[in-house]
Amino acid sequence: MSPDPSTPAERPWLDADRPVEERVDALLAVMTLAEKVGQLHQTANIDPAADAELIRSGAISSSLYASGATGGNVKDEGLLSSAIDSAQAIAVEESRLGIPLLFGRDVIHGHRTVFPIPLGLASGWDESLVERACEVAADEAHLEGVAWTFAPMVDISEEPRWGRVAESFGEQPVLSGRLGAAAVRGFQGEPVGEKGRLAACAKHFVGYGLAAGGRDYDTVSVGENTLRNLHLRPFKDAVDAGVLTVMASFNDVDGVPMHSNRRLLREVLKDEWGFDGVVVGDWGGVGQLMNHGVAADLREAAVYGIEAGIDLEMVSGAYAAHLAELVESGEVDPALVDDSVRRVLRLKFRLGLFERPYTGTPGRSNAPTGATRALAREAAHGSMVLLSNNGVLPLPAEPGTLLLTGPFVQEGEALLGTWVLDGRGEDVISPEAAFRERLGDRLLVQDNRFSERGVQLVRQADVTVAVVGEHPWRSGEANSVARIGLPAGQLEVLHELAGIDKPLVVVVYTGRPLELGPVLDLADAVILAWHPGVETGNALADVVFGDVAPFGRLPMTFPRTTGHIPTSTHQRPTSRTLTPEQDKTEGRYLDALVLPRLPFGHGLSYTTFSYGEMALSATELSRAGGSLEVSVGVTNSGERRGREVVQLYFRDPVAQVTRPNIELLDWARLDLEPGQSGTARFTVTADQLGYFGRDLTRRVDTGEVVLMVGPDASRGERVSITVTA
Ligand code: BGC
Repeated sequence: MSPDPSTPAERPWLDADRPVEERVDALLAVMTLAEKVGQLHQTANIDPAADAELIRSGAISSSLYASGATGGNVKDEGLLSSAIDSAQAIAVEESRLGIPLLFGRDVIHGHRTVFPIPLGLASGWDESLVERACEVAADEAHLEGVAWTFAPMVDISEEPRWGRVAESFGEQPVLSGRLGAAAVRGFQGEPVGEKGRLAACAKHFVGYGLAAGGRDYDTVSVGENTLRNLHLRPFKDAVDAGVLTVMASFNDVDGVPMHSNRRLLREVLKDEWGFDGVVVGDWGGVGQLMNHGVAADLREAAVYGIEAGIDLEMVSGAYAAHLAELVESGEVDPALVDDSVRRVLRLKFRLGLFERPYTGTPGRSNAPTGATRALAREAAHGSMVLLSNNGVLPLPAEPGTLLLTGPFVQEGEALLGTWVLDGRGEDVISPEAAFRERLGDRLLVQDNRFSERGVQLVRQADVTVAVVGEHPWRSGEANSVARIGLPAGQLEVLHELAGIDKPLVVVVYTGRPLELGPVLDLADAVILAWHPGVETGNALADVVFGDVAPFGRLPMTFPRTTGHIPTSTHQRPTSRTLTPEQDKTEGRYLDALVLPRLPFGHGLSYTTFSYGEMALSATELSRAGGSLEVSVGVTNSGERRGREVVQLYFRDPVAQVTRPNIELLDWARLDLEPGQSGTARFTVTADQLGYFGRDLTRRVDTGEVVLMVGPDASRGERVSITVTA
């Protein structure tokens, strides 16, 4: 039996002045096998009363919920924190080693102050904003005892039928990777372990966005080339940003489920990238190796999970039930268990949980404040993408009588979006509330549904703002759709409204790219607003009445219709690559054009911008660490102030493997007054132009590379540069 570590002198791991690794060693040295296995078990919920004995024995490491917060929303302020503190007291004061519990939670796009869904946040193309939003979320969640969030999701998302695109930063690895890294910094802070910060979790590793047919959880067939050149990249960025944890994904990759994927988890993530944090399984993911048909029972699933490198097992209980016995029988190498325990303990030390196990925040409310609302409003501005506008927007401050109509006019909770555990509908400023404040009785409202009366009201009004789209329960996890059109009936009503000769502005709330061609054809202006969070109405009114000129840009390509999927910036040259001109005459479909309805990066302002010629500091760069400067002058050629998101793309015309027709390299935001000019400056390094070649090693080729600067992925000035040896 290990020494009785009951006095502080015998608990050297409690000495905060020692390096983390020494503390881990000291603790690991005195742990029993049962205690080690306990550190690898994450439970769905802890009830401090019912689970007291399990906690005391060290059988639980971590939990997602704490009673009375079972299964989801905690609407009573303080309930979660008091349950967490009670459970923590048992772990810290009554268990043999006093190892604190780790409470994780899905704090995805805000905690109490709910920000736009991640795909909306991504539309702002603003790392600082994402970082600040995540910092607010971390602070609010930390008040309740949460120490770890299962965010950011950095899965490359190119499939609009898949509901989880809402939780992502879109399709481009550079955008997703940089915003993901910003989220990691915002959640975790620097140094890690500061009060008010959380451990972040890059998820879902890897390839989840490729689920066949966009059906959540479905199989994934992808080669390592595409993984390396695309899907793994944002995860690498998150690891480089210091993310403390990574979550394995539910899918298989070419027949090997990720929860048993030793190659990708252990060899690539841990060994090759040097990730020394925790790999957590997804909900029941180890047990689901049986569903995948690769494990006969939970015992076998436990073997595959630990061998693959799943350190902390979420919920299915495979490790708790079988790991100790598997080690004793010699079927599992005890060194694997030690390595996983080491990672979990390292995380708990890094987070400062041994020093600050309790919430320590009785009475501090985490409700939205003026400051957090201001940030949520700023984020909602950035999330709005003006898709089309014939000049009807912005509306004048005195627009006459305005009709606000559609299913989301009075909504609160629905406009928070998917994956909201702690936000509250009553915190949301609805579109009606915000418009009422500006217009008083000049506002007509057609309640929650469209109806015949709505059509009469259009006749009375001078302008109509129709608020349509999908409810959040149609996006997010397990909410895939086979068709990406507007929900049933909405387009028909929009046709009726458009048939009356009055200006029609359509606002689309959605968690995914939708088939918007028909809406673009009938409306005078279309604003894509995603699901914007607590400041929905205020942000919409700000944009509609021109206090803020929209500046959001699409983080995903919008296909023409469902049958066009997949279509994205990831398309690569083929034996007969299609140019836009050819698309009109000899496209790949007999019955439709091929190129997307709205390109990646698209978004209008209330002003216009003219681009000067691209200037380069050199036309050659050495592949051995060379770099060059690219700049382009942009002038606000319209009559209102506005923000342009200048986008730099590249294409490698001849490489060892097929490379994307266009890939985002960088972007710059310019705020310009009417008539004012600014310069977007970029540094292009040879390394940024590299890729994984035929032998799956990273390389930078010599030869031509085409750079393109423009307002979206479909147009801009192109200039060739040469990479030299
Ligand atoms: C999801 C994860 C989430 C986890 C815990 C799973 O179903 O895939 O993204 O973090 O549940 O709630």
